[in-house]
Amino acid sequence: MPIPNDTIVAVATAPGRGGVGIVRLSGPRAAAIAAQLAAPLPPPRTAALRHIRAADGSVLDSGLLLHFPAPHSFTGEDVVELQAHGSPVALQLIVQAACAAGARLARPGEFSERAFLNQRIDLAQAEAIADLIDAATAEAARAAQRSLEGEFSRRVEAIAAQLVEIRMYVEGALDFSDEDVDWLADGALGTRLEAARAALDELLARAAQGRRLRDGYTVALTGRPNVGKSTLLNRLAGADIAIVTEIAGTTRDVLRENLDLRGLPVTLVDTAGLRESDDPVEREGIRRARLALEQAELALFIVDARSGLSAEDRRLLEALPPSLPRLIVHNKCDLVPTLGTRAESADELHLSAATGEGIESLIDAIHRHAGLHAGGEGAFSARTRHVEALRRAAAHLRQAAQRLSERSMPELAAEDLRLAHEALGEITGRFTSEDLLGRIFASFCIGK
Ligand code: GDP
Repeated sequence: MPIPNDTIVAVATAPGRGGVGIVRLSGPRAAAIAAQLAAPLPPPRTAALRHIRAADGSVLDSGLLLHFPAPHSFTGEDVVELQAHGSPVALQLIVQAACAAGARLARPGEFSERAFLNQRIDLAQAEAIADLIDAATAEAARAAQRSLEGEFSRRVEAIAAQLVEIRMYVEGALDFSDEDVDWLADGALGTRLEAARAALDELLARAAQGRRLRDGYTVALTGRPNVGKSTLLNRLAGADIAIVTEIAGTTRDVLRENLDLRGLPVTLVDTAGLRESDDPVEREGIRRARLALEQAELALFIVDARSGLSAEDRRLLEALPPSLPRLIVHNKCDLVPTLGTRAESADELHLSAATGEGIESLIDAIHRHAGLHAGGEGAFSARTRHVEALRRAAAHLRQAAQRLSERSMPELAAEDLRLAHEALGEITGRFTSEDLLGRIFASFCIGK
């Protein structure tokens, strides 16, 4: 991508009214344009109170002016921030005045894109900014912060550096293959390959957790009518959102609730009791429930602890999409005092939605199914494209190790290593097509 040479402007604060609203300018003419709007410019990185004026000299607002000269700014270009009052109308007038003075409206994500093009941040860090802003839970925000600080990128770069060494070694061996020395038989190569693979696997596990924290998890609540699905939803949500009654078939529509289950953003879908019905409204509810089940990543199948898994329950279980993982939850265990809240197995547990007993174990089980592990080092925020690139790198590395251990076709092993290296480069943006870059930044919001 060519490095741009025009000056962009946008409101950097969220749309709507607020105490303060920030207009941001970036580009070679940022200082000149700001001086036209709110002269004189204060010294670098020093706030000064100024009137902000339109082209005709009329005062639009007053606010703080800050100048960050290139290259010590977020974008690496000359940046000026005007901190005015948070009035959407006044802020738009300021943006218009900046455009009249020669700036252009920024596209979504264009400030971050410039920061990337000027190598202030890499691609994974730019994405982490967007992920931090969009984080649904505190844990997701912390994971994004780690990536933004460059922790994720540093690990990726470290593995890439290991691959460079291995590639030099293997390619060197190919160049000298006529000589008598058998370079590939050297144990040092195996050790290095193993170290790179272990580092990649660990990174992949942490990135997969981060992707989960970013993208969340869709869990469907299902089971016969009246087993306590709505009560459990309310318990997990900590608020009365579903209607709980004693009449079977109350939950006719699909209720969706976004929950923060100990840092994991969960969309919990409460489906209508799956049963045959002649009532057209209930039938429609059941159709929607099936649709929701197909989109879910885990089913909580609720049964009444008093009866355990009945024949009817087994029939319903079999009707679930075959590939959908499931947890069988024996609810109402408060009504069966002899039962307690013991876990039957990893995928079967007892609890009481009414009293809350056993709920923590349910949340543990949901975390486990979502691939989140308690303890250990924290996750990095990562996206599906990162996880896929890491998986590809791991597959190429495995392939290369296999070929080298068999000493068959070392040329192909060298190619595998090159592909593994390239897959890692896609994460930080070293080997990323212009088209993909465009798509990534376009998904950001304006002013970011
Ligand atoms: P749904 O049709 O599966 O959504 O079931 P509801 O959540 O509407 O619950 C049906 C009935 O069972 C209501 O009267 C609830 O108060 C009751 N119930 C739900 N969970 C429990 C529980 O853990 N213990 C007891 N004792 N009653 C429960």
